[in-house]
Amino acid sequence: MFPRSFLTFSLLLLIVSFSFSLTLVKVRYGVHKEKIRIVFELNKKVKYRVFALERPYRVVIDIFDRKVKFRKISLPRGIKYRTGTHPWGKRIVLQPSYEYEVKAFSLNRPFRIVIDLYKTLRFKPKFVKKVIVIDAGHGGKDPGAIGWRGIKEKWVNLRIARYLAYYLRKDGRFKVIMTRKGDYFVPLGKRAEIAVRNKAHLFISIHADAAPRKNPRARGTQIFALSHRSAERKKREMLRNTYLAKLLINNGGYKYRSTRLILTDLAFKITLEESVEFAKILARELKRNLKRRVYFKGIKRAGFAVLKTPGTPSVLIEVGFITNPYEARRLASSKFQRRVAYSIYMAILKYFNLKPR
Ligand SMILES: [Zn+2]
Repeated sequence: MFPRSFLTFSLLLLIVSFSFSLTLVKVRYGVHKEKIRIVFELNKKVKYRVFALERPYRVVIDIFDRKVKFRKISLPRGIKYRTGTHPWGKRIVLQPSYEYEVKAFSLNRPFRIVIDLYKTLRFKPKFVKKVIVIDAGHGGKDPGAIGWRGIKEKWVNLRIARYLAYYLRKDGRFKVIMTRKGDYFVPLGKRAEIAVRNKAHLFISIHADAAPRKNPRARGTQIFALSHRSAERKKREMLRNTYLAKLLINNGGYKYRSTRLILTDLAFKITLEESVEFAKILARELKRNLKRRVYFKGIKRAGFAVLKTPGTPSVLIEVGFITNPYEARRLASSKFQRRVAYSIYMAILKYFNLKPR
């Protein structure tokens, strides 16, 4: 046991040091003819980094300080943002509707991080349709899990995928690509290639699980964020590939291999953060609409990771347990399939900040 006075004292010290070292950030902006200037004003000097990522286009600001607090964030209309807390500090990701050329620098007294977004030739004033890749798991010679009374997973997956495609197409703001449209076999690598080639904004893999032997009554929906973090080999491959390397921009430093390596890593990490964000939204929507147990099960890696290129947040849904008779009956019903698809569609709208039509 500690002497009481000592405890009080150390606690006080902690609070004092905390309040003194808090880094406060105010974000403001100005719109000029040729650029938009976004200014992060801080009450003290910090280490930071700014970089841009493509597919989808984002500007990322990392502040290396563990006690950062955003006092006010004011951004021009059309620039969506999200913040994240990390062991090293805070990250803010700006998602403008258009692609800009980014220049960043800092100024002193008070310390400011200035980000200028210049309109470039790639400026696209039109609304860009979001590309959604729907991946119905298994197919053809690969039936997936075989369920109660012989229900095949590949059929359930495909039906839900089709309903989802229907809702997204009807909406009109999405470009829908299905990795398979019928009952045929598509290898995992090919599915990933489809997403990469189409520069997908989201990749959604639909599956139905077999209950483990120990727990045949297992039920509920499980959602995973797919990790793209891949082997060093894949990273080296990406660095050699100029097409992929071009997907990552950095102000000037990008010609150096080491910077590109860091950026490649960052792109993987940020994509994973986005996958987790989408997976959580999805879990909430499914739970609300289906009134059943829905679990966000975290990050799934390795063999299951269909995509190995950053830029496309990806999730995998195990809609239910096909081997459980109660679940199988639901999975086989078109009413349930439609409701699952509709919930996924609603989650997609939420993720992209779009209003239902
Ligand atoms: Zn499966």
